[in-house]
Amino acid sequence: MVQATNLGFPRIGGQRETKKLVENFWAGKITEQALDEAAVKLRAENWKLQQAQGLSQIPSGDFSFYDHVLDHSVMFNVIPQRFRHLAEGHERNFAIGRGIQKPATETQEKVDIEAQEMKKWFDTNYHYIVPEFETNQTFKLSANAKTVQEFSEAKALGIHTRPVVLGPLSFLLLGKTAKNSAGLDLITLLPKVLPVYEELFAQLAAAGADWVQIDEPILALDISAAVVADFHTTYTRLTAAAPKLKFLIATYFGRIGNNVSFIKDSGVAGLHIDLVRAPEQLENVIANIGQTQVLSLGLIDGRNIWKTNLAVALKLAETAVAALGSDRVFVAPSCSLLHTPVTLRFEKRLASKNPELFDWLAYSEEKCKEVHIIAHALNHGADSVKAELADNARSIEARRVSPHTTNAAVRQRLEAIVPDQLRRRNVFPTRQVTQHEANPLPAFPTTTIGSFPQTKEIRLARAKFTKGEIDAATYHDFIKKEIAFCVKEQEALKIDVLVHGEAERNDMVAYFGERLEGYIFSENGWIASYGSRCVRPPIIFGDVHRVNPMTITETVYAQSLTSKPMKGMLTGPVTCLQWSFVRDDIPRSVVCTQLALAIRDEVSDLEKAGIVHIQVDEPAIREGLPLRSVDFDFYLQWAVDAFLLSTTGVQDKTIIHTHMCYSDFQDIFQAIVRMDADVLTIENSKSDMRILGAFSTHGYNAEIGPGVFDIHSPRVPSTQEMKERADAMLKYIPRGNLWINPDCGLKTRGWKEVRESLTNMVAVAEALRAAS
Ligand code: GLN
Ligand code: ZN
Repeated sequence: MVQATNLGFPRIGGQRETKKLVENFWAGKITEQALDEAAVKLRAENWKLQQAQGLSQIPSGDFSFYDHVLDHSVMFNVIPQRFRHLAEGHERNFAIGRGIQKPATETQEKVDIEAQEMKKWFDTNYHYIVPEFETNQTFKLSANAKTVQEFSEAKALGIHTRPVVLGPLSFLLLGKTAKNSAGLDLITLLPKVLPVYEELFAQLAAAGADWVQIDEPILALDISAAVVADFHTTYTRLTAAAPKLKFLIATYFGRIGNNVSFIKDSGVAGLHIDLVRAPEQLENVIANIGQTQVLSLGLIDGRNIWKTNLAVALKLAETAVAALGSDRVFVAPSCSLLHTPVTLRFEKRLASKNPELFDWLAYSEEKCKEVHIIAHALNHGADSVKAELADNARSIEARRVSPHTTNAAVRQRLEAIVPDQLRRRNVFPTRQVTQHEANPLPAFPTTTIGSFPQTKEIRLARAKFTKGEIDAATYHDFIKKEIAFCVKEQEALKIDVLVHGEAERNDMVAYFGERLEGYIFSENGWIASYGSRCVRPPIIFGDVHRVNPMTITETVYAQSLTSKPMKGMLTGPVTCLQWSFVRDDIPRSVVCTQLALAIRDEVSDLEKAGIVHIQVDEPAIREGLPLRSVDFDFYLQWAVDAFLLSTTGVQDKTIIHTHMCYSDFQDIFQAIVRMDADVLTIENSKSDMRILGAFSTHGYNAEIGPGVFDIHSPRVPSTQEMKERADAMLKYIPRGNLWINPDCGLKTRGWKEVRESLTNMVAVAEALRAAS
C-alpha cells in the first residue's frame, strides 16, 4: 500500500494562536503552564486535522514555540556559554532566540546578552537560530526530550506519528563556531554527537515509534565527497544501533544529485525527495536506491499556495509505483508545510469576493487532502477518487484558461524588450562626472536607507484607514504631515540626501503589490518568518503591470518641502518576487521581468517629476540564489537583468541607488558589479572591512555606503566609533566614492535614538570633510 504522509505541519495555528500565546507569555499575561496547555491542545488539533484529511503517517516533533532548530540545540544541550546560568525552560529558550536586555536598576547591573544568530533557512524567508558550537562541545540529551514527549503525547490520543528529527550532519554543518572557538571544524564533532542521537532513537523505539523522519536538508547543497562519506558512516552506525526503527532521510528544496550515493547501503529504510523543485531527479534516484528502500515522493508544493495538478502528480507517482511497487512508495508534500499557510477555512473574504481565484488555492490542510487523493488513486485506482480528480481537473483548467491571468499588452511588451533597455547610456565613470556636475553634493554625502520610525500613531492611522474608520482624505492628510515632519527633522540633522520616510508603507513589497495589477491579498495566508513573527506574502496570480504611478505624489510632495535632493524609494523586482507567493504557471523569470517593467515605469515617472536620486531596494536578491552553484549563473542572469530593466531607462545625470541589508556577497560580487548602480548601500557596521576590498578586486568602481551603524539595536553609536569605521572603510574605498549612512531603514527604531544616532553620524561626515 502506498502511504499518504506529511513532513511537517505549520506550527503557528490556523489563526496564529501560537504567536499570540507566545507574545502573551512574553508580556507576562499568561503563565508557562497556560502556554504549555494551549500548545498541547494545538498539537492535538493539528494531528487530528491531518488524520481527518486521510494521512497515514503524520509527523510529530514538528511543533515549536520559536524555532525547531533552536529546540533541537536545546534538546542536545547545545547552549551557548552566555545562557548557561539561566534555568532550563521556555524563558531560557526564548532568551537564546531573542537575547536579553535589561536597563540597570538601583539593585541590579544592566543585563545585555546577545541573542544567538538567526539565518535564513535555505532559500526561504523562514529564519532559524544558528546552533553555536564550541571546541570542547559536549552533547547531552535533555531529560524530557521534546521529540519523545510529543510522540507519546500523540500516542496517548491514539495517533501513531512519525517523529521528525534534524539529522546530525545538517545539525552540525548548518551551525557555526562560537566566538571562543575559532578554527573549530564542525564535522569533527560528529563522533561526539552520535551517541546522543543513539540515545534519542532508543527512547523513541521504547516509546513505540517505528518510522522516524530524519531531516538532512544539506543533501540538496553542494557538499564534499568527504561529507557524503560521513553520511554513509553515520547512517550505517545509527541504523545498526536502532534495529527496531525505520529511518526516512528527508531532503527538500532541490535535487539530491550525486549525494544519493550513500543511501543504498546505509541501512536507512527510505528517502524523501522534492519532486516539485526537481521532478527530473526521479529516474536517477530510483536507479540509485537499494532493493527494499522506500521512496517518499514530494509531489505537493510545500512552498506555495496553488492547488496541485493532480493528474500530473499522479502520473509521476505511477512511474515510481511501477518501478518500486506500492509498498515502497510514500506520497508527501515536497517539504514541511511550515512554509505554507494553515487552512483556507478562514479565507472568507477571498472566498466570497473572488471565488474564481479562491478555487485555485490549497493551503496546508488542503494539501494534506491532495496527498491523500493521490495515494488513494494509486492504491485503489483513479476511479476510486473520480469526483475529486474531476473537480481538481476542472479547477486546473479554469485557471489555465482564465482571462484574468494574462494580459496581452504585458506579454507584447515583454516580447519587445531589446538589449538597449538593459543598459545605461554611458559607463559609470562617465556618468559620475555628469552626476557630480549636475547635482553637486558635499564630499562624504550623508543619507539614510529610506524608512523613519513607524510610530504608534502611524500604525494606528493606517489601521483606522484600513477598517474604514477614517476616510482617504483624512488619512492622506495625516501622511502628508508625517512626511513634512520627517523632512524637517532631516533638514535639522543636516543630512544631504533626504527621504520621505515611508510612513505610508506597511511593508515594502505589499505596498507595491497593492498598487499593481496581477497581485491579490489573502486575509489569513500567514507563514512563520522568525520567532513568533509571521508574514503574509502577497499573491501574484496574473500578469503584473502598473496602471497608475505608485510613489510620485508622496515623493514630489516631500521634494517640494526642501531644497535638498529627495531620494525616491522603490522596491526592486527580485525582492517583490522573492517575498510573494508567485504564480507557478509561467517561469519566475518572466514574472520578475513583468515586475521590472512596472518599476521601470515608476523610475521614469520619478525622473520626469524632477527626482534626481532614485533608490531601488534589492534586499532579497541573494536569498533567491539557488542551492547549487551550477545553477547560480542562470538565476543571476535573469535577476540582474530584471534590476537593469527597472533602473536603466534614465539619463546619465539621474543617480540610481540600490540597497541590500547584508554584507555576505561572496557568491554575488560579479552580479553586483553588473547591476551597475551608481550608489550601493549595504550593511557593514558589524562586518569585516576586508569585504570592502573584495568589491574593488571584483571590478566594482561605483559609489558605496557601507552602513556605519547597526539599526537593529536601540543603542546610540558615538561619533568616534563611527568615524573609526569610516576611516577603516577609506582603506578600501576611494574618498570620492564613500557615502555615510546607517546599515538599513530606521522604521523599527524610536525618534529619540534616531535623532541622536544621526546627529553623531552627520558629525562623522563633517569630521571627514574637515580632515581632507
Ligand atoms: N527602504 C527600505 C527601508 O528603509 C529598505 C528596507 C530593507 O532593506 N529591508 O525600510
Ligand atoms: Zn536593509
